[in-house]
Amino acid sequence: MGFSFFASRAAARFLEAPEPPPRKKKVVVLGTGWAGTSFLKNLDSSRYEVKVISPRNYFAFTPLLPSVTCGTVEARSVVEPIRRMFEKKGKDVAYYEAECFKIDPTKKAVHCRSAVGTNLDGNGDFMVDYDYLVVALGATVNTFNTPGVMEHCHFLKEVEDAQKIRKSVIDCFERASIPNISEEEKRKILHFVIIGGGPTGVEFAAELHDFLVEDLVKLYPAIEQFVKITIIQSGEHILNTFDQRIAVFAESKFQRDGIELSTGFRVIKVSDDSITVKCKSSGVETLVPYGMAVWSAGIGTRPVITDFMSQVGQGKRRALATNEWLRVPECDSVYAIGDCSSISQRKIMEDISTIFKVADKDNSGTLTLKEINDVLEDICIRYPQVELYMKSMHMVDIADLIKGGVGDSNKESMVVNIEEFKKALSHVDSQVKTVPATAQVAAQQGYYLADCFNKKDHCVEHPEGPLRLTGSGEGHHNFRPFRYKHLGQFAPLGGEQAAAELPGDWVSMGHSTQWLWYSVYASKQVSWRTRVLVVSDWTRRFIFGRDSSR
Ligand code: FAD
Ligand code: MG
Ligand code: MG
Ligand code: MG
Ligand code: MG
Repeated sequence: MGFSFFASRAAARFLEAPEPPPRKKKVVVLGTGWAGTSFLKNLDSSRYEVKVISPRNYFAFTPLLPSVTCGTVEARSVVEPIRRMFEKKGKDVAYYEAECFKIDPTKKAVHCRSAVGTNLDGNGDFMVDYDYLVVALGATVNTFNTPGVMEHCHFLKEVEDAQKIRKSVIDCFERASIPNISEEEKRKILHFVIIGGGPTGVEFAAELHDFLVEDLVKLYPAIEQFVKITIIQSGEHILNTFDQRIAVFAESKFQRDGIELSTGFRVIKVSDDSITVKCKSSGVETLVPYGMAVWSAGIGTRPVITDFMSQVGQGKRRALATNEWLRVPECDSVYAIGDCSSISQRKIMEDISTIFKVADKDNSGTLTLKEINDVLEDICIRYPQVELYMKSMHMVDIADLIKGGVGDSNKESMVVNIEEFKKALSHVDSQVKTVPATAQVAAQQGYYLADCFNKKDHCVEHPEGPLRLTGSGEGHHNFRPFRYKHLGQFAPLGGEQAAAELPGDWVSMGHSTQWLWYSVYASKQVSWRTRVLVVSDWTRRFIFGRDSSR
């Protein structure tokens, strides 16, 4: 009797035993650049089982790469080891140094290759499965299939590229200093050509110019007169993503510095000692002899992304399309952030009838101003182009926009039917903006997505929010769509001068802006270690100049 009593107690206790905690969802992150590290830094890694895959075990602070090309800042100062970042933040994250070469969304797994041959087949291939995949692979260089570019040009994407450029610049000076070289040959060797007049090309040209006039000409006085820097730009102006005032300032500064600007020229071929350029207006082709060329003319798609896009039916796009919540619409567990992706903003005209129905609470078939105002906030969250459009047309409120559609009716007593509502909003979608491929965007996207991941459970439990308007998007969670906040951009122009474009149409140029640049970039460093290193590199350069050894 006693025995059975204990037995049943034990059985009861066994039955009551708590369920094992649910398995943590597996999050796999591809890439440790701006987007990937920003995501990882903000993710609550105790909620997920996190694995990170990237061929580089460090994060590189890319805005300082142009400074590395001329030794203003040392390569070591702009990188932060990824494991150290996790350890410092107390993150429970596994890292594998490998390259992902295939994403398999049906098996929910990524195929990776490490540099070391470890598995039984003797190669370094392995597979990692996921519940959620965060693709943050960045972009690659884009040569537009121009012949000879891959073989003969330098690029400026990675830390190694910057180090190679630095070595190559000194090489040119040493080569041109050998006796018995003709003047023509010296001019050729000391002709530095930059292809692409965007921020990276311009900043590199400025760095190189400073390096030449501040350091190298003192060390190589005999060949100073043969040095030349040229920027080849296919558009009419350099820095064409900046305010026109900045482009003009930069162009006139470069002219004074003797940096040649060849605008309106397209590079059509590069050989080992000359570049063939074509004048876009006249069609005339010219040969430009050069000593060193840096190609900085645009970004392209990594093969693994191209392959993935064709698997999910995105065809031949330049970047992986996501919705406004940064999810790949064709796969409910794949997200993409940073340079490898681009957001497709939903058009308001696609949802206009649904919006009208939701807004028309009394089912009268018409909307009053009050009815419109009640859903206006949700509309503006879901379709930011509405606000942008009103701003661009100098409209103060929605009534102005609607009145434009229905003719001159009184604001307060205004009533619109579906046709008038459609007409009023018909031009709004022209204001859809794409976000640029910058570190600023990548970092904000990483931060935002981690926030979504941290609050996923809460959102599933409280499924209200701006989405009730159309029911599209994520459907099950009420997170606001990602919204990019532009904090401005800098263009360092050399000679301790910089240009900056700040929010609110504020443009600033000159020496004081350079000091602003120093302080912003010092504060943006990812750790105190790199901050100290960068600031001491700057100080060292001020006092002793740059190091001109290879
Ligand atoms: P990346 O930072 O490029 O990171 C991609 C990551 O993916 C890397 O860790 C890479 O190793 C990894 N990876 C690549 N292939 C694979 C693979 N097959 N499998 C796994 N991992 C892979 N932006 C600004 O806002 N301001 C600036 O001043 C500025 N200056 C710049 C200067 C230079 C010289 C350059 C090159 C860029 C600059 N940018 C600047 C742009 C900025 O660096 C990019 O927009 C940003 O790096 C994009 O972040 P990302 O995470 O998408 O890509
Ligand atoms: Mg990244
Ligand atoms: Mg990076
Ligand atoms: Mg992007
Ligand atoms: Mg109504």
